[in-house]
Amino acid sequence: MIDLRIPIQPFPVVEPLIVRLREDTADHGPHDAILIGVEGIRRQYDYQGFSLELDASMETKLSNDVIMIVPGQASARRLIRADSKHNTLLVTEQCDQLCVMCSQPPKKHHVDLMRELQIAASLAPHDAYIGISGGEPLLHKKKLLAMLCELASSRPDLTFHVLTNGQHFDKDDIPLLREIGLDRVLWGIPLYAADREMHDDIVKKPGAFDRLLESFNILYRAGSSIELRTVVLAQNSEELANLSSFIGSFLPFVERWAIMQLESIGYGRMNWDTIFKDTSVDFEGVARAINIGTTKGVRVQLYNFPLCSIPAGYRDLAPATISDWKNKFESFCTDCAGRARCGGFFEWYDHKKGFKGLGPI
Ligand code: SF4
Repeated sequence: MIDLRIPIQPFPVVEPLIVRLREDTADHGPHDAILIGVEGIRRQYDYQGFSLELDASMETKLSNDVIMIVPGQASARRLIRADSKHNTLLVTEQCDQLCVMCSQPPKKHHVDLMRELQIAASLAPHDAYIGISGGEPLLHKKKLLAMLCELASSRPDLTFHVLTNGQHFDKDDIPLLREIGLDRVLWGIPLYAADREMHDDIVKKPGAFDRLLESFNILYRAGSSIELRTVVLAQNSEELANLSSFIGSFLPFVERWAIMQLESIGYGRMNWDTIFKDTSVDFEGVARAINIGTTKGVRVQLYNFPLCSIPAGYRDLAPATISDWKNKFESFCTDCAGRARCGGFFEWYDHKKGFKGLGPI
């Protein structure tokens, strides 16, 4: 697992500070710290005349990474790793749903770091694709849309994937959504069932399904790009075929439909025994959903599935989606011919309670 925090020597800041770590002095700007010395694991940077010292092994590449230094914290957060395609900015830990599989259970308290996140994104490498998540980022919609709008103008090369529960779009947002740029943001929105009660029960919010349909209508009118996301659960696995028909009939404009495996963390871990669906021994519900969706022209993808949990005929639908900083492989993966194109497992996956039908392919 890649550490997203780097130990830092005490540094005199009174509010969060965004810094880009540079190893060359060409074209450096006000947020850049320049590497001036390395001794063992300690790297010393010059930041506007101040000495900034970080501890990281030589294997850890930090050049052009963007970090956030928070007053009083002994480690800096790596917000943007320059050599990674898996950078995600966390806007808030608040949420207005309580999904049974939530990997990051919500908190009441919110710390507004939107200004800092905007600076961090503005320092990202050229053509970076940046994830934005929460909690529910659109609980802070006004600031988030303003940030995306400003970045669209200052860094038109950047694109974003925003994870949202889709409960907060209004028709008044349409002009701003268009101004941000329709191809600049892919909205990743969960839909767990075509059955209103089942969806609402999974997200633990009455009325969520109907509000979601309203939002889809708004995004459709704006011309925005949508990635539908459905985690397979014991509760909805038999419903996936219906959901597939529903998507093909009523949401044919979505960019793609991601059917996802469960992450064993947060509520996902707490509820694992009652919600995990072992698709390595019973892929039937997913297969039917794929077949129906494909027939109706829906682009179906499988996220977070170990490749060997999928019947051979469907494996080309499964990109390696588990982020590089949180994936791992099991001992039986060592000699697997599929390993190079397999995303493996979440770092926190517990094989004793997990898939029963895996093995090298
Ligand atoms: S054995 Fe491991 S590497 Fe091979 S497909 Fe299964 S999970 Fe992936």
